[in-house]
Amino acid sequence: MTRILIAEDEARIANFVEKGLRSSGFTTTTVADGISAASLARDTDHDLLLLDLGLPGQDGLAALAEIRRRGERLPIIVLTARDSVQDRVTGLNGGANDYLTKPFSFEELLARIRVQLRDSGTTQETVLAAGEVTLDMLTRRAVVAGQQVELTAREYAVLEMFLRHPGQVLAREQLLSHVWGYDFDGGSNVVDVYVRYLRKKLGDHVIETVRGMGYRLEA
Ligand code: CA
Repeated sequence: MTRILIAEDEARIANFVEKGLRSSGFTTTTVADGISAASLARDTDHDLLLLDLGLPGQDGLAALAEIRRRGERLPIIVLTARDSVQDRVTGLNGGANDYLTKPFSFEELLARIRVQLRDSGTTQETVLAAGEVTLDMLTRRAVVAGQQVELTAREYAVLEMFLRHPGQVLAREQLLSHVWGYDFDGGSNVVDVYVRYLRKKLGDHVIETVRGMGYRLEA
């Protein structure tokens, strides 16, 4: 299990990230202040840290400095609303590996996390499969009944969510917040549109409609 430490004091964002990472197969620990972030961010306990900069107690930059001073090498991705070039430079000079400006989509966060874990040599499962569908998370290609299928980034993210929960009914809202992010304000019918795209590529029977509830991937 890949263990991710989340340091974020805004409950809405912390929940969004935590839920998304758990449903993507990670183990998470969440803290809401900089002092806990610095003290829990140890290579022996966590594989990656998501660090908000605006944290109470000790801000993210101070926590970052302390973690690197102690010699911890885990990858750190800074999450912040501050998008000025100066903050970005300060964060990266302070030992962050990457930088994500709020608001961000879960899909983008996940992609950045995977890059860091790959670079740091942390192994993670690379193939998901259910029924006749297989998804290679490195090439981002699906194989259905022996046929290779090219997917767009969104289609990939939706299919990955289904493959993480084979046979379970996923509500539109779950798919929406996982794939499109907590700040997406389009209607939830975008989910229906993407399910339609996936059915066209994978076959109609692969994703079943559960009336009044959502969708289910055949197990
Ligand atoms: Ca904050």
